[in-house]
Amino acid sequence: MFDLKVFCMPKGFGLRFDLTEPFILDGYKYCTDGRIAVRIKTDELDTQGRILPKNIMEIFEEKRNTMEGEFSFSIVKTEEKCKECYGKGRLKLSKDFSVVCDECDGKGKILSWGKNKIGEFLYSDEYIDKICDNLDNSVITGQSNDGKLFFKFNGGDGVLMNTN
Ligand SMILES: [Zn+2]
Repeated sequence: MFDLKVFCMPKGFGLRFDLTEPFILDGYKYCTDGRIAVRIKTDELDTQGRILPKNIMEIFEEKRNTMEGEFSFSIVKTEEKCKECYGKGRLKLSKDFSVVCDECDGKGKILSWGKNKIGEFLYSDEYIDKICDNLDNSVITGQSNDGKLFFKFNGGDGVLMNTN
């Protein structure tokens, strides 16, 4: 079985919902971090005792324009100045005391993901890369007027939010 957990929200990013683990609602197992959601059919019972986005199924049923395509885009990462330490690599806590910047590990630079245009909307290469790396035979199937990109893969389907 492929690893759906990579699409969950990383630990420590707890917000409105508990999205750090897969969850089951109405016959589907979902993984989402709020920007992307993937699901596969399951016979397992609904997840209990967690605060979950109960209306997530509605997103998968939204009206869309049919579209066909492969996720074969050039994935680009560019180096840019770290915004946390302004490129210095260290964070000044007081006049005489500074610590290595966590964000860039002291390098002063971070790699940022590029974007790809699909239809009229932009999508982060980080997510396109995740889809290609973790889902078999993923293909684009549609796009909503507000830029949600629908896709399917062996065993399930998914939605990717645009970044613009
Ligand atoms: Zn930094």
